[in-house]
Amino acid sequence: MVIQPKFRGFICTTAHPVGCAENVKQQIGYVKKQGKFNGPKNVLIIGASTGYGLASRITATFGAGSKTLGVFFERPAIGGRTASAGWYNTAAFEKVALAEGYYAKSINGDAFSHEIKDQTIQTIKADMGKVDLVIYSLASPRRTDPDTKQIYTSVIKPIGKPFQGKTVDFHTGEISTAKVEPATEQEEIETVKVMGGEDWILWIKALKEANVLADQFVTLAYSYVGPKLTRPIYRDGTIGKAKDDLEASVDTINALVKDLNGQAYVAVNKALVTQSSSAIPVVPLYISLLFKVMKEKGIHEGCIEQIYRLFTERIYSGDLALDEQGRIRVDDWEMREDVQAEVAKLWEQVTNDNIDLLADLAGFRNDFFALFGFGLPNVDYEAEVDQVVAIPSLEE
Ligand code: NAD
Repeated sequence: MVIQPKFRGFICTTAHPVGCAENVKQQIGYVKKQGKFNGPKNVLIIGASTGYGLASRITATFGAGSKTLGVFFERPAIGGRTASAGWYNTAAFEKVALAEGYYAKSINGDAFSHEIKDQTIQTIKADMGKVDLVIYSLASPRRTDPDTKQIYTSVIKPIGKPFQGKTVDFHTGEISTAKVEPATEQEEIETVKVMGGEDWILWIKALKEANVLADQFVTLAYSYVGPKLTRPIYRDGTIGKAKDDLEASVDTINALVKDLNGQAYVAVNKALVTQSSSAIPVVPLYISLLFKVMKEKGIHEGCIEQIYRLFTERIYSGDLALDEQGRIRVDDWEMREDVQAEVAKLWEQVTNDNIDLLADLAGFRNDFFALFGFGLPNVDYEAEVDQVVAIPSLEE
């Protein structure tokens, strides 16, 4: 079939297999160009199919020659529907990894469940023995509690008082005022249940009990802080509460794995275009202005640049450069004073009339389309393609 992007609100309901493969190839190309480094041997990535998790998988494989096991929740093509982007990304990743002699296996299912944790442990035991790096990179709108089966839903809302701020519809470029009512106490609790650290702790407990964590293993979860502009809706809002909980889990995990000399860290990454960040009011406008400023200064990075830097200049460099709260920061360039001062100035100036000049809305849009494999160079989008694509390790 000929595959075109189709939208439902902020969500693109189709994905392009050749475009997604091209996207993955570009990321692999970036890592190869940077060169090899001494890194982990056996890596488990939870949330491995898109965004920061996929970039972590690619960096570990092609930068450090690691074996990787990736867990994710993606949809294969069914009938006339395309697969999800993460499915196509993984198919492309595994094919290149296998062709180049790297071990890569994947598990598709609900990472919050006991079943998927058990399946993961069995695969590690059979193929790797133990893992020395566990990356936790889930972003999910809901979570089913594995014991009670209660379903929790996360929301992006301010806490305590309503939020009002400038935002942009990145499809049309139209600036408007977003108004969001504060979360209820229940919504706050549920968001922490979904995006907080409880499931990260459950993963490490399960892996430890199964004796599949190597001595001195490292586990890493990703967080975000962001500037004053987005604080009421992000860091001081429901999702920020979840991030506080995730960050606080570091101590719990460290106590749990003390006898293994294991170490948990949170890495604070830069704001980037993903399906979830596009849906947060204010954030698309902030990111469009941020990209403009960072590109002009020559310090713009995407997921792969961020993660390659995280691995080579922080985790495996011996210089973690932790902040006061013990976190690794690769959002350091985003948060630079000169960058934030310029973004804040543009924020005040930006209107419907000058947005194309002041903001990198085109960059935002390109990145958004690229998430689903659209708008990439060297891809013929008029050509017939087979939407059914196999992930090699899921065929067995
Ligand atoms: P993403 O949406 O691109 O990736 C999420 C991954 O989680 C996918 O692999 C998906 O398949 C998997 N997943 C979701 N629900 C699942 C489930 N129930 N079971 C198994 N897998 C499931 O997200 P992302 O933007 O890369 O975010 C990853 C982490 O990085 C999050 O913690 C996010 O807060 C953090 N982060 C994101 C940004 C940003 O700007 N995007 C910035 C800093 C930190």
